[in-house]
Amino acid sequence: MEPTGIGAIRARLRAAEAAAGRAAGAVTLIAVSKVQPEARVRAVLAAGQRVFGENRVQEAQGRWEPLRAEGAAVELHLIGPLQTNKARAAAGLFDAIHTVDRERLAEALARLAQERGASPGVFVQVNTGREPQKAGCDPEGADALVARVRALGLPLRGLMCIPPEGEDPVPHFRLLRGMAERNGLDGLSMGMSGDFEAAVAEGATHVRVGSAIFGARGG
Ligand SMILES: *Cc1c(COP(=O)(O)O)cnc(C)c1O
Repeated sequence: MEPTGIGAIRARLRAAEAAAGRAAGAVTLIAVSKVQPEARVRAVLAAGQRVFGENRVQEAQGRWEPLRAEGAAVELHLIGPLQTNKARAAAGLFDAIHTVDRERLAEALARLAQERGASPGVFVQVNTGREPQKAGCDPEGADALVARVRALGLPLRGLMCIPPEGEDPVPHFRLLRGMAERNGLDGLSMGMSGDFEAAVAEGATHVRVGSAIFGARGG
């Protein structure tokens, strides 16, 4: 087993950046706090972590609105699927949404951006493994969705993927990187507890690490 916990994950991330010839801090570590008990989240906050990921809007509101009210200056990233009817709540809470995977959702976010005069950063999620049960646009549809998000004026940061479980993730990371390059996008949200070092080697700019920081969910 590789070492875990926030300190160990930071060290492993620095080492992965160095091994890939990338600058220290080139990759943003998103600590995925979904379903974790509050005590664990507070401990990671106390260790200085400021960027967190959640996969459900309501759960994230319940956890982070009180912590922000206490003064926690955190950056929050939505990494789970977003229903259009929750776009308003998501836009009010999150600094970035990694799961924009269809035009209707992009259009809803664009309307909210107009109304609010601000928008979370946007990543287009691509279902690189074409898994029927998984969110994300098809690889063939990614260029068109990227163009649509840009035309709507949303702050597009990059692409995101979740490779199929039990498969070598590297071909998926490479596919995503190629799509980002041909679309002139810098941001790559890819890599989780089991494969973030491989993702950094393939150009990830944002890794989403949960259990390796906090311990097993529900554990
Ligand atoms: C839960 C989750 C993660 C974190 O998974 P771990 O394996 O615990 O690191 C990353 N990305 C997404 C989209 C998730 O839902």
